[in-house]
Amino acid sequence: MRSKEAVPFADFGNAATAEDEAAVRRVLASGRIVLGEEVSHFENTWAERCGLPFAVGVGNGLDAIEIGLRSLGLGPGDEVITTPMTAVATVLGIMRAGATPVLADVEPSTALMSLPSVARCVTPRTRAVLLVHLYGQMRDLSAWSAFCEDHGLLLIEDCAQSHDALSDGKVAGAWGAFGAYSFYPTKNLGAVGDAGALVTNDLSLCEAARSLRNYGQKTRYVHGRVGLNSRLDEVQAAILNTRLGKLTSWTQRRRQIAEIYRAGIRNDGVELLASPVSPESHVYHLFVIRSVDRDRLQQYLLDAGVETLIHYPIPVHRQTPFHTLSTDPVGLPSSDEHAERCLSLPCRPNLSDTEVNRVIEAINSFQP
Ligand SMILES: *Cc1c(COP(=O)(O)O)cnc(C)c1O
Repeated sequence: MRSKEAVPFADFGNAATAEDEAAVRRVLASGRIVLGEEVSHFENTWAERCGLPFAVGVGNGLDAIEIGLRSLGLGPGDEVITTPMTAVATVLGIMRAGATPVLADVEPSTALMSLPSVARCVTPRTRAVLLVHLYGQMRDLSAWSAFCEDHGLLLIEDCAQSHDALSDGKVAGAWGAFGAYSFYPTKNLGAVGDAGALVTNDLSLCEAARSLRNYGQKTRYVHGRVGLNSRLDEVQAAILNTRLGKLTSWTQRRRQIAEIYRAGIRNDGVELLASPVSPESHVYHLFVIRSVDRDRLQQYLLDAGVETLIHYPIPVHRQTPFHTLSTDPVGLPSSDEHAERCLSLPCRPNLSDTEVNRVIEAINSFQP
């Protein structure tokens, strides 16, 4: 049992709203429960929100990466450079497409992939750079775009943590050949189970992805490709259509919480990540701090009732199935260091000011 003053990291206690229930009932009553109107409505709305002509609803974020890469014709023999400081799904998506992941190091101040490290990873087989907008941060997109153009590489975006983030007026997913979204329940826009989408301005990519998610079907019972079953579920789409109306205010609240943390946290043993380049460029999927004494800090906060998580405690290159992947030739020291120091504070939209201040007080009273 938690004490009364506990600050839980996630809280879905009030997730079952009347609107959610109405959305589920709407689908059940419609008689169209696979790839129906809710899915197409969500695809149209999400594409428009990203400033793009096309979105393809799929089963989850991992599948969005696999399907997007395969739709671009990437596969065996092609190298895709990405970061080890991410959800393992980023790297799995590349491998499931049959391509070869190559891991670059991160910048210590943001934990985002480092451009100089990516430059060291480029080989004649490199075809794409898969950027992850980690924790909700979008940074240096023009530099990444220019780098990819100069080297003849595709830019691809993992947007699973960056719904509605903007860089130079362009939404996450609009910079790359495609953007892969996840709507897993804990994401900034979450369904009540698995859901995902990829967004693009490339019609032929969109058509390939639509076919791949549905057994590789061209028209009914005619199969042009070796596809998979990864359709966005109609009930999940209905929930997403309903919750989409709240995303703007949820993001505003996340930014407000982050501002209170930034202004209030004062402890020599605790480091904040770099401030966002502009307010719109960060949607604070996670608010992450760093400490050389991270494990003791985490226990201290837990004793004070503050629940924290670590994103991510074991970087991809330290996970058993990925030991043999190629990396930056000088190694991945900043990724290892970040994994040892990072700590994610509660940052959900339904966190109260009182709860935020309780977190700050607990951090500030920690003796480094
Ligand atoms: C959640 C997440 C994914 C995977 O999404 P799923 O819908 O769980 O498959 C991929 N990349 C990142 C950065 C994520 O946070």
